[in-house]
Amino acid sequence: METLKIAIQKSGRLSEKSLELIEECGIKHIQGKRKLISVSPNFPIELLFLRDDDIPQYVADGVADIGIVGENEVLEKGKDVELTERLGFARCRLSLAIPQSIQYKDNSYFNGKRIATSYPRILQKFLDENKLNAEIHEISGSVEIAPSIGLADSIFDIVSSGSTLVSNRLKEVEVVIQSEAVIISTPGLKKAKKAILNDFIFRIHAVLQSKNNKYILLNAPNENLEKIINILPGIKSPTVMPLFEPGWSSLHSVVNEKKFWEIIGKLKEFGAQGILVIPIEKMIV
Ligand code: ATP
Ligand code: ZN
Repeated sequence: METLKIAIQKSGRLSEKSLELIEECGIKHIQGKRKLISVSPNFPIELLFLRDDDIPQYVADGVADIGIVGENEVLEKGKDVELTERLGFARCRLSLAIPQSIQYKDNSYFNGKRIATSYPRILQKFLDENKLNAEIHEISGSVEIAPSIGLADSIFDIVSSGSTLVSNRLKEVEVVIQSEAVIISTPGLKKAKKAILNDFIFRIHAVLQSKNNKYILLNAPNENLEKIINILPGIKSPTVMPLFEPGWSSLHSVVNEKKFWEIIGKLKEFGAQGILVIPIEKMIV
C-alpha cells in the first residue's frame, strides 16, 4: 500500500509541535529514540526525522513527499516545492538589526555595511529590491554576536520576542519577512499519495479550527435572545433550548476565542448568565 513520507525536524524548535500536530490528527507513531524513520500503525504515513535545513531539498527531490518546516527555510532554500498549508506555530520574523548606539534613519544605512546572516538568499533579495549595496557574511550560527566581535556591522536574523537582540545590545530596524511553520509538498504527487495528503490536511484543519474556537453555553432572558444571537455568530446558527424557568433559554454556540473577549461585556449587558466556555477537541465545518 502507498504511504506518505513526511519529513519533520529531528530536534529543535519545530520538533515537538510537529509531532503534537500529527498526534492530534489521530496518527500514532512508534518513536524509536535514534531512529530516522517511524511508520504509523494506524495511518499510511512514515515520519522521517531530519535537520530542518535539509527538508526543502528532500521534499523537492521527492525523498519525502511532504515536510513540516519554517517558511523562512523554504524561502531561503528556494527549492521547487509547493506551499500546502500554514500551521500557525513557530511564528517569527527575519529582521535586520544594528547596534543600539547607532542612529538609524532609513535602509540606506546598510549601503557599504557588512551584514552577518544565515539567510543570505532572502537578504540579497531584500537588498536588490531596495537597491542597496551591502556585503553579506554568511555564518551558520550565533549571528547575534557578530557585531560585538567585529565580524559585521549589523545582522539579519530570526527575531521572535526580541530578547536575544536586547541582550546583545542590538535593535531591530527592518522586518524583512514573517514566518511560521508550513507544510510543503513535492509538486505533482501521485494520486494515491495526494489522497493521503488530503485526508491528513482535512484532519489538520479540524485540529487548527478547534484551537481557535470555543464552545459557549449560556442562559439568556428570552426578550434579549435575538440581541445575543446577533453578537454570537455560530457555525450556522446557535442552538436554543427552553429552560425550566419560564422566560429563559439556554443557548449553545461556537465562538472564536479572540472574539469571545470582545463580546463578553455585551453578553452580560444583555442579561446572559451562567456563561460556560469549553475547549473543543476537534472541529469539522
Ligand atoms: P537544525 O538542527 O534542525 O538545523 P536549527 O537550529 O537550524 O535546527 P531551530 O532553532 O530549531 O533550527 O529553528 C527551527 C525553525 O523554528 C526556524 O527555521 C524558524 O522557522 C523557527 N524559529 C526559530 N527561532 C524561533 C523563535 N525564537 N521563535 C519562533 N520560531 C522560531
Ligand atoms: Zn537548521
